Amino acid sequence: MTLYPAQSPRRRAHARRRFAAVAATASLALATPVAVGPAAVADAQFPSTEGNTNTASLMTYDSMIAELEKIEQTSKHGVDVFTLAEAGTEFTVSEQGRDLYVATVGDGPEDVWLQGRIHGNEPYGGESLMALLKQLGSNNSATYQQLRQAYTFHIIPMYNPDGSEANIRHTVLQDGSEERIDLNRDWMEGKFAAVESEAFYEYWTMVDPDFGVDIHHQGLKTEYGTGDDVTLSLGISLAPGGPTLPTLAGGEYDVLTRQMNVHVFDELSRYGSINIDRYQVSGSYEIDIRGGVVSAMMLGLNHRGLNPEGHSNPMVFFETSGNSSDGSLGQKARGKSIQQNLRGLEALLTGMASGEVQQEDPERWEEIPHAPTTGYLTDDGIIPVG
Ligand SMILES: [Zn+2]
Repeated sequence: MTLYPAQSPRRRAHARRRFAAVAATASLALATPVAVGPAAVADAQFPSTEGNTNTASLMTYDSMIAELEKIEQTSKHGVDVFTLAEAGTEFTVSEQGRDLYVATVGDGPEDVWLQGRIHGNEPYGGESLMALLKQLGSNNSATYQQLRQAYTFHIIPMYNPDGSEANIRHTVLQDGSEERIDLNRDWMEGKFAAVESEAFYEYWTMVDPDFGVDIHHQGLKTEYGTGDDVTLSLGISLAPGGPTLPTLAGGEYDVLTRQMNVHVFDELSRYGSINIDRYQVSGSYEIDIRGGVVSAMMLGLNHRGLNPEGHSNPMVFFETSGNSSDGSLGQKARGKSIQQNLRGLEALLTGMASGEVQQEDPERWEEIPHAPTTGYLTDDGIIPVG
């Protein structure tokens, strides 16, 4: 196995600067816990699939329920696990009739929405949120204490249980059509084809969160310019500086979402096992879709009259490289992939609570590796730039 520096010299220097800055503010309760000593040489490569895609150790729907119940029973800090039926939404179960689960923890005045596995073949959003929930429920460190005081977390480990059980991206309509619906294109006027969308949308209007994260997987990917394996991409589903995002909330989300991802990039770049770039599609397009759940939240979608006040909130997304479909990684690199999501979530949440995120320079979004942008991928096709 070839070992090579995971970071370019520029990024390593930057990570060192951040490291020093964190050390200098270590007396702050919310300074992110850091690993001692930088990883000088490390391996950010993902393993070869060698044609085998094993998924046996991935979290199933039943194992998620069992684990949620165990966390609820053993946590010291008030984890509450419930179904949307118990929450009182009008639509309560998946297309195939599975209960939809949420866990809450924390007593803070601000609500944080964390969702995983809206695409069923993208498992580690779910598994990393379970790992985070366990920490929020039991970790007595000052950092976690502050998180519970600042926020009430709404954790959705498996937005798409039917797709998860079938190991497919979509949910399948049960109206006789067998139509496959991408739940992350379904929060849109004239859509809401799948019942999961109705159910979680209504829960969103009950929560009115302040911000959140959606965790996905992408294909195996290499970094533009270096060819290094990318293990994690950071995304914003309405492109910063694009046709839509600067028009929302007086431009506030265009700034804050970039600050959120810049902060995660800085905090995670110190780990040699993680190599981050910006999420792009077809190589050089910025995603700018309105029907994605996180987009609709930023747009303040008012569906069925459930959001008459036009609540909206900023959201970012993570994309772990490799998924569980045939020919991709399956459960290989599982521990490392879950860990990088957990570290990203911890960095973002502690940074938001301490105000460090809001101090970041949003223009440094440009420093996160990416291909030169050639266009925006919108619901209506490509809008070229430049
Ligand atoms: Zn996805």
